[in-house]
Amino acid sequence: MNISFIYYPEGRKKALTMSYDDGQIFDRRLVEVFNRYGIKGTFHLNSGLLDGDVFIKASEVSELYKGHEVSAHSVTHPYLTGIPADIAASEMTEDRRRLEALVCYPVRGMSYPFGAYSNELMTTLPRLGIEYSRTVNSHGGFQLPDNFMAWHPTCHHGQDLMEKAKVFKNHLSWSKMPLFYVWGHSFEFDREDNWDLIEEFCKVVSGDESVWYATNIEIMDYIKAVRGLRFSVDCRIVSNPSATPVWIGVDGGPVKIGAGQTVKL
Ligand SMILES: [Zn+2]
Repeated sequence: MNISFIYYPEGRKKALTMSYDDGQIFDRRLVEVFNRYGIKGTFHLNSGLLDGDVFIKASEVSELYKGHEVSAHSVTHPYLTGIPADIAASEMTEDRRRLEALVCYPVRGMSYPFGAYSNELMTTLPRLGIEYSRTVNSHGGFQLPDNFMAWHPTCHHGQDLMEKAKVFKNHLSWSKMPLFYVWGHSFEFDREDNWDLIEEFCKVVSGDESVWYATNIEIMDYIKAVRGLRFSVDCRIVSNPSATPVWIGVDGGPVKIGAGQTVKL
């Protein structure tokens, strides 16, 4: 029996996720574009900046980002590597607390302000309830992270986005569960006057049956569930202790292992 981890939910072969930082008012237009095309994203917010001049209002967070993920980005956007460790810790815990009060679910992810991170942060943040953190170190590929506390994206939307979209669409080696992970700030579309770029991108990548459109945390939960499957030595029995149904390759085809289920293959 040949077991392989090659599928996203419903036997899909690829995944796309978007990741946008800082929560400025231009998120309104970006969310509208994503919603129109069925693209899912994660919005990393600084709770201490909400209600400021060019920032989203706290009162609109829950409704605006519905269907997407609200994630942490610290209260005041400091370099977390350049302040005392206890202050960095409270920046993240307090950001979680304030955002959770707005969205009514546990906020479990973040992106590093200014992309600044360290081994120490990668060790301490999980103790504060942070399960993933995105960097700004684009790798240009479609690989999944080894360590979700240093989750490197495919690219910033200013880095040959349409070229990469073309490669992704025709990506043939789907055996490694390709993930297209784009990051940026919505204010950049306004500043560069290139809203047509994200519009065109969403048009090209949307509506593809082979692609799972998901938030950052949905991708992470799914991958952790796949990696957390328990197999018998002969691989004929598998248990899925997670709350997430997963699809695995069994002799080449997708087989669903339900949440909390033990299945004989
Ligand atoms: Zn930022």
